Amino acid sequence: MKHHPSKYAGLTTFLTHYTEFENAENSHLPPIYQNAVFVFDDTESGAAIAGHEQPGYYYTRLNNPNHQQLATKLAALEAWDLIKQNPEADPERLAGGLTFASGMAAVTAAILACVSAGETVLTQAALYDGTYLFLKNLAPRYGIKVVWVHDNTPEGWAQAFAEHPDARLAYIETPVNPTLRLTDIQAVADLAHASGARVAVDNTFATPYCQRPFAFGADLVIHSTTKYLSGHGQVVGGAVLTTDLDLLHGDLYQVHKLIGGTPSPIDTWMTNIGLKTFELRMARHCQNALRVAKVLEKHPAVNRVYYPGLASHPDYELAQRQMTDFGGMIAFDLKGGLEAGKRMMNAVRVATLAVSLGNVDTLVQHPASMTHRNTPREDRLAAGITDGLVRLSVGIEDASDILRDLLQAIG
Ligand code: PLP
Repeated sequence: MKHHPSKYAGLTTFLTHYTEFENAENSHLPPIYQNAVFVFDDTESGAAIAGHEQPGYYYTRLNNPNHQQLATKLAALEAWDLIKQNPEADPERLAGGLTFASGMAAVTAAILACVSAGETVLTQAALYDGTYLFLKNLAPRYGIKVVWVHDNTPEGWAQAFAEHPDARLAYIETPVNPTLRLTDIQAVADLAHASGARVAVDNTFATPYCQRPFAFGADLVIHSTTKYLSGHGQVVGGAVLTTDLDLLHGDLYQVHKLIGGTPSPIDTWMTNIGLKTFELRMARHCQNALRVAKVLEKHPAVNRVYYPGLASHPDYELAQRQMTDFGGMIAFDLKGGLEAGKRMMNAVRVATLAVSLGNVDTLVQHPASMTHRNTPREDRLAAGITDGLVRLSVGIEDASDILRDLLQAIG
C-alpha cells in the first residue's frame, strides 16, 4: 500500500518508502520486470488493457512496472510542494510523468508533445548542446519555428512574447549547462500562461533537491536521469514530469509510444535505487561545491568562477529566490586560458577527466572541445562558453581531497 507522500516529513523517508514494497512476492526491493510483453488472463481483459479501460501492462515500449514506479516517484518528488499544500489530493492527480531512454529522448519528446509544424517555441540562447542542436537543426526541418531569446531576463522574455503572441512553448534550462546562468521561471511562466503557452524546464543541473519548477508555475519538468537522479553514472535515462495530465495522457504519451524512446526496465530500476540516497548525495554535492567555489574564487590563477551560490554570480539574487541550494556544478576560467585549462585537466588525480555530471565522484571536462564542441564558436562565445572554460561536477568525496587535487593541478 502506497502511503500518501504528504505523511513523510522528509525527502529521504519519501524516496525510500513511496511506491516501494508493493509487489506480490514481498520482495524488499522491487522486482526487475525485464520482459517485453505481459500475459493477458483472457481475450476480454487483453482488449480492455489495450484500450486503457482496465489497468494493466501489455508491452514494455508502452509501459512497464519499473518505468511506472520511477515516473510516479519522480513526479511526486518534483510536485513535493504541491503535495504538501494539498494533503488531501491524490498525488497522481497533481503530477505524472514518463521515463525515457535518455535525457535527449525526454527533451525532444517534451518539445514535440507541445508544438506542431507551424507553431513557435521561444527558448533561451544558451542551452545544453544537444537541446540547442535539436532546436537549431532538427526542429525547423519539421516546420517548428524556434525563436531565440538572447536577452534572458523577464524584460527580454516579455518582448519575445509580445513579438510572438502565437508561441506555444517557452523552453528553459536553469541553471544552464555549462555557464550556470539562471532563468527566472516564475516570470517566464507568468508571461507564457498569459499568452496561452506552456513552460518546460530542464531541471537536470539543479535537481528537485535545489529547485522545483512546478512551484513557480512550470508545466513540464525534464530530466536527464543519467546525472544526479541515478547518481553513480550507471545509467543513461530521462524523464518528463508534468502537472498537465491531459498532455501526459494525450500528446506526450503518443510521442513516447510512437517515437519509442523507452528505457530498459533495468535502467529505471537502477535509477530508482539511486534515488534512495538522492537527498544525502545532493546535500554533500552542494556543500562540497560551495567550498570548492569559494576557494577557487580566491585563487590567483583563476579568472572567474561561476556558481549560483557565490555572491559574485550575476544571478545570485534570483538564485536565492528560486533555489533552495545551489547544486554540485561549477564552471571556471583560468587566467592562462585554454592552455592552462588543458594542463590542469591533464594533471588531476582525484577528479576524473570525463563528460557527464552528477556522479558521486568528481568529473572535470572542457565544454568548448567536448560537450559543446558542435555549437558554432560565435554562438558558444555569445552564451559565455569561452575557450578556456572548465566545467567541474563536484562529487561527494571528502572536500579536502577534491581541493588538494585541484590546487596541485592548477599549480
Ligand atoms: N539536459 C542537460 C542539462 C544535460 O546536461 C544533458 C546531458 O548532459 C541532457 C539534457 C541530455 O541527457 P542525456 O545525455 O541523458 O541524453
